[in-house]
Amino acid sequence: MPSTRTLATSLLPTDDGLRLDDVSIGPDQIVATLEATAPRSTCPVCGTWSETVHSLYQRTMADLPWGQQTVQLRLRVRKCFCRQPTCSRRIFTERLPTMVAPYARRTRRLTEVVRLLAFALGGEPGARIVERLGMATSPATLLRLIRRTAVVEAPTPRALGVDDWAQRKRHTYGTILIDLEQHRLVDLLPDRTADTLASWLQDRPGIEVISRDRSGAYADGAARGAPDAMQVADRFHLTRNLGETLDRCFNRYRGVIKEIERPDAPRRPADETPIPIRPAPPRPSIEAEKAGKRAARQSRYTLIRERYLKGASIAELARGLKLNWKTVRKYAQADQCPERPLRPPRPRLLTPYEPYLLQRWEEGCHNGVRLYREIAAQGFSGSRIHVARFVAQLRRDQLAQPTTPASATPVPSQGLTPRDATWLVIRPVLERTPAEQTALDQLTQRAPELERVIVLGERFLALLRQRPGDLACDQWVTDAATRGVPELRRFAVKLTQDLSAVRAAGRAAWSNGQTEGQVHKLKRLKRSRYGRAKFDLLRLRLLNAA
Ligand SMILES: [Zn+2]
Repeated sequence: MPSTRTLATSLLPTDDGLRLDDVSIGPDQIVATLEATAPRSTCPVCGTWSETVHSLYQRTMADLPWGQQTVQLRLRVRKCFCRQPTCSRRIFTERLPTMVAPYARRTRRLTEVVRLLAFALGGEPGARIVERLGMATSPATLLRLIRRTAVVEAPTPRALGVDDWAQRKRHTYGTILIDLEQHRLVDLLPDRTADTLASWLQDRPGIEVISRDRSGAYADGAARGAPDAMQVADRFHLTRNLGETLDRCFNRYRGVIKEIERPDAPRRPADETPIPIRPAPPRPSIEAEKAGKRAARQSRYTLIRERYLKGASIAELARGLKLNWKTVRKYAQADQCPERPLRPPRPRLLTPYEPYLLQRWEEGCHNGVRLYREIAAQGFSGSRIHVARFVAQLRRDQLAQPTTPASATPVPSQGLTPRDATWLVIRPVLERTPAEQTALDQLTQRAPELERVIVLGERFLALLRQRPGDLACDQWVTDAATRGVPELRRFAVKLTQDLSAVRAAGRAAWSNGQTEGQVHKLKRLKRSRYGRAKFDLLRLRLLNAA
């Protein structure tokens, strides 16, 4: 008997002050009846102990499951009179603080396990796992547990990276704060205003370096919140701003640029600074896009249909998949994957002229404007766009079947785009391939004024990469402002307005490039079903995961 007693007691949430009176084992639940055995209890308000029992009271709470079986504890506690005449509480319920919080429906150790799962998995996925483990808890409770968890404050960093991130693209922006030395997240702020940053900084003295973009709000917030810290214009943003400036400038020369042959797929340079500008990926053809959508529809159908036939309800599926329930119903009740509803065919102005256009195409006339003029002369009343679309379709068909013998015109080689040209300038000079250098040389031969642009771009990047110091920085700003093209002159003027931070960028090695990685982490968490990713939940989960 004593050995059973020891085993039973050691399975309880606390081994002190509890007596196990009864255990009943049902098919999927174990119910244990317990009684508190402390000789006296303490008033939670005034701390005076009391032995005067008013009544007995039963609390019910869930404890850690035993295998697949849920465990319910029925704990008999006493209600006592408070003996302290001045105390505001007359009657109080005995508490077992190490075992269960006042009024809680779960023991502390169960709550702790559920909280860990909530942090790891988020609301709904967490609730599903927790239910399978025999600890059924609603998604709302899981989120409440996260909210109630105190944040472990990260130590105040010496070098702080400040950047913004989109909570909802183009709608709400927050601020992400990074310890640039430890490469870890320090905090999230709910907006990107100067005031919020300033008051955050005021609470955390000792920050020596603040690396930020050149937005006025962060500069202002940093100046007010940490006046002694050195502000550094972040190299990542400076590089991006230069890239945008070059883009605008090259865009004016796009006619010249597109005649230059594009060197083979430029590679990402092995430079520590991540380059935010990449050549746009080739656009997938419309046919491929359609095929992709069809495949996605088919796999969605299979998934919904399978679960529906296994007994899942439409509402449940809609919730789980974050889809409109009408969509889910359509898929669930269909015997095969529903096709997109076909639009009724519109009367087409172009139809009578199509044979003529095809004939001209076969003869080798692929010029949309000329074809339009020809059929307009025949009485076509539609617009040039109709013809352009038709010609584009013919071109796509031809590309899809490159073996068509009669009209085997060579596919024109792809010309350089303004974005490609920017990319070539941003690539470190020593890493350029001969073909890339040739492309740049051709560019300056055709538009000699671009030579200055390219040289100024290269010099600016050298400032950030080799950090020759303030003098070189000031010299660049002067040169760009006096000798640059209009786009570069404007860029130089903006740099002058933030000159000390830009100079600091030319001295110090700080870069917010790593925030990119942290923002990815954020996005991953956001995707794991936080509803509309409530800011506070996101912040707590991210900080506790660090
Ligand atoms: Zn009291």
